[in-house]
Amino acid sequence: MRNTLATQPIFELSRTGRRAAVFPASDVSERPLEALLGKGALTESLPELPEVTEPDVIRHFVNLSTLNMSVDTHFYPLGSCTMKYNPKRHERLARLEGVGDVHPYQCDEDAQGMLAMLFELQEMLAEIAGLPCVSLQPAAGAQGEFTALLVAAAYFRDRGEKRTRVIFPSSAHGTNPASAALAGFETVQMKPSKTGLVDLDELRSLVDGRTAVFMITNPNTLGLFERRIGEIAEVVHAAGGLVYIDGANMNAILGVTRPGDFGGDMMHYNVHKTFTGPHGAGGPGAGPIAVRDFLGDYLPGPIVSRKGSPPAAAGGTACFSLTTPSKSIGRMRSHFGNVGILLRGYFYLRTLGAEGIRSVTENAVLNANYLKAKLADVLPAPHGETCMHEFVGTAAAAKRRGVTAMDLAKRLLDYGFHAPTVYFPLDVPEAVMIEPTETESKETLDAFAETVARILNEPAELVKSAPRTTTVCRPDEVKAARQLVLRWTPNAVESVAGATADAGR
Ligand SMILES: *Cc1c(COP(=O)(O)O)cnc(C)c1O
Repeated sequence: MRNTLATQPIFELSRTGRRAAVFPASDVSERPLEALLGKGALTESLPELPEVTEPDVIRHFVNLSTLNMSVDTHFYPLGSCTMKYNPKRHERLARLEGVGDVHPYQCDEDAQGMLAMLFELQEMLAEIAGLPCVSLQPAAGAQGEFTALLVAAAYFRDRGEKRTRVIFPSSAHGTNPASAALAGFETVQMKPSKTGLVDLDELRSLVDGRTAVFMITNPNTLGLFERRIGEIAEVVHAAGGLVYIDGANMNAILGVTRPGDFGGDMMHYNVHKTFTGPHGAGGPGAGPIAVRDFLGDYLPGPIVSRKGSPPAAAGGTACFSLTTPSKSIGRMRSHFGNVGILLRGYFYLRTLGAEGIRSVTENAVLNANYLKAKLADVLPAPHGETCMHEFVGTAAAAKRRGVTAMDLAKRLLDYGFHAPTVYFPLDVPEAVMIEPTETESKETLDAFAETVARILNEPAELVKSAPRTTTVCRPDEVKAARQLVLRWTPNAVESVAGATADAGR
């Protein structure tokens, strides 16, 4: 049922004098605040707060909290984003008093426990990457890319090499060319290839003495493992360039293979994807990077270093400290990065251990292949027999009878599924990119597959007018982005709607 009350700003519920709690009359004589605090401590006018009852407040926020889909409420197969379930245990651990209340300005000696955890996280990320030097600073994958490219630029500058180009496949995530441009490089995009994998001949023709970095996601954004990654890295290295591995798809290779082992020189992690940091809604992320030893001196600081053995064994002497690498590019962010998210990743890794990490990947790949096979008739995947942790199907057949990938995505909302990623990567027509993750059961995957098949059999007009059960139904996308309607009126929601049907609510 559509919840109109929750779309009303709380200020519009305000009635002068309404209160959640009313205190009894005071039995001591009143004195003006000014006399107690001094005039300087008071504002000239009272803050404009909504005046509402307790039920008003509770209903407002509880209803608001139900408007969005989340991994805690629905299956969320958003390709490329790894929306896996975030275990609540790690939320609890990250909030423990001795963890959540540590202040970033506490001196190293007083924060040994926190530094120990961050140090161990650096070590674990180095091990999983097969790359020894780690910086926890970047706040997201995109900032990790940017940071690593600045590291590469500093490295080449130091060597007196003028390398100006960054090359990437056509299926690359948009952040790759954006980061390269922001870091001052010229961007070179490869042509879409028939196999969905990097065309080595084309790569050879593009790589030369101007090449600074080749950026590649492995498995790539089609969910395919670049089997010739070793040869790809050789081509880049032979010309003196560096290989950057976009680690957003690490969920597919954890504990099975390592970027450092297949030729990567630098990479980022998305802790909020691979290691269950909650994400979405513009909240904090974490994008630590790992690099080869010869790039370690350029990393942003501070980095947690260890001297000797941990405090208990060393009779209370602090052994973890914050250091800045000798040729550091400087800070990328305040303090050590988004520690709250980094810690959730730390607890996740400590909970699972080495074997658990590998089983994450095995189950993520199994779930994706199961779903890919289940959907083969309705959303065939144009590339590859076997996928990794995600796959890209095409709704091109449905489009011929008027139902687009976008229509399907919208209609899925009516059935209680978050929409998959659509129209990415760009080389697949009517792309539907699905990533089930390892945290979903067979029953959920079956229900999803049956629902997709059912929707593609529904009359086109019905699918095209979806969603019908959400608060805002089918806004005209351009109009909704440019003419924001923030004030609630019974007609406001409909005023931005295009072909919204009112039936069924
Ligand atoms: C998500 C993603 C990024 C960007 O990461 P953010 O953490 O969102 O900044 C880069 N590349 C790929 C392939 C991704 O899926």
